[in-house]
Amino acid sequence: MALRFFCNTKISTHHHHHHHAANQAVSEDVKSLVSNTLKKLPSLSSSSSSSSSCSPLQSLQRGNWVKLICGASFEDAVDIRNLSLVYTLSGVDCIDCAADESVVRAVNEGIEAAAEISGVQIRPWVMISVNDDKDLHFRKAEFDPEDCPVDCSRPCEIVCPANAISFQGKSETGTSSNTNEGSTVLMDGVITERCYGCGRCLPVCPYDKISEVTYVRDAATTVDLIKRNDVDAMEIHTSGRQSAQFKDLWCALGDSVENLRLIAVSLPNGGDSTISSMNEMFSIMKPNLQCFNLWQLDGRPMSGDIGRGATKETIDFAFQLAKAKNRPPGFLQLAGGTNAHTIDGLRKKGLFRTTSSTGDETNTINSSTSSQALIGGIAYGGYARKIVGRVLRCMQSEHGGAARIEDHPEHLLMALKEAVALVGPVKSL
Ligand code: SF4
Ligand code: SF4
Repeated sequence: MALRFFCNTKISTHHHHHHHAANQAVSEDVKSLVSNTLKKLPSLSSSSSSSSSCSPLQSLQRGNWVKLICGASFEDAVDIRNLSLVYTLSGVDCIDCAADESVVRAVNEGIEAAAEISGVQIRPWVMISVNDDKDLHFRKAEFDPEDCPVDCSRPCEIVCPANAISFQGKSETGTSSNTNEGSTVLMDGVITERCYGCGRCLPVCPYDKISEVTYVRDAATTVDLIKRNDVDAMEIHTSGRQSAQFKDLWCALGDSVENLRLIAVSLPNGGDSTISSMNEMFSIMKPNLQCFNLWQLDGRPMSGDIGRGATKETIDFAFQLAKAKNRPPGFLQLAGGTNAHTIDGLRKKGLFRTTSSTGDETNTINSSTSSQALIGGIAYGGYARKIVGRVLRCMQSEHGGAARIEDHPEHLLMALKEAVALVGPVKSL
């Protein structure tokens, strides 16, 4: 059951001006509070012996891998650090984030802070997300708030799931004002770091003021990032339809990919052509592929927070691929619309932690991944951020935009319960 709580105070979303030099010590009280809480949570205690000793690779092989998606375009370092901390404590195997140095640093800081709190040695893999062409996951909304009619009811602000649209700088009369904190001038409009490109604001503006800006991650920056010791994995978002673009990116990455432990390809369901696209991409990667690979089955992109039905497409996609005989090697993992209902949907299709698809005993798992499961696991994005984000917003309204969640045990425990309620059912048998 999700905890319910309310938060009335309007919060500042402009906390990205604050920076922490390093992680400061965490109190012993917080450490024991967290370890007691984790022990008491039923979904983790039943599997504590196996999950605590399970590496990310073992999770993929066993079929209980969980990845947190921070968002390929989400770049709010404070939120990303807090989210990474909470989900590391809850036992995720991988944290997927934007291919940006400050974001990678924030993820690693969150992981390190979690390790200090829990004492657990196994750390989740850090994955950066890039694209080979224009892609919904790599875009930002944009508008000039000066163009907005003053009497607009601001449906854009209401619909945005990321609190990425702000009018705090604007007083009711429509003029800009300073905050009472002093020198910070709050900007109106889209807070670029927080916008993850879901696109929901675009159609709701009655004056058609919002436009989208898409971008492609620069391959040279990606090469630098994947050479870092604190980046373990990379995901390439592709439409699957243009193998030329995929090949261009793959060539531009060169032998830097040899630093990685896992390479994921995230693709939408292309129907009948999906398997042939996958095979084509695999043949492009193969000469340089020295690590494990994974196919992220992106059902209904960036929709997991919307509701129960959002998860259907990725489950259908997984079912379709599980039945396919000629697919290339690689783990399969769900994403796009995944939420608290995904695991039940997988179970109903007989796909959770099973070695063969329903009614087809000949269709076994890939020997190259020495996998014991047909489906490697699940990635959670918007839904995971929503349930913990509510706690973070509350904390920030009380303690300021730069608050570190480990400094506020009551919020940390609340966030942890939310995260474990999502991750735990995949981790336990
Ligand atoms: S695209 Fe989505 S995240 Fe970005 S501002 Fe619009 S509603 Fe918010
Ligand atoms: S809905 Fe459109 S006009 Fe209204 S505040 Fe948002 S962007 Fe401006």
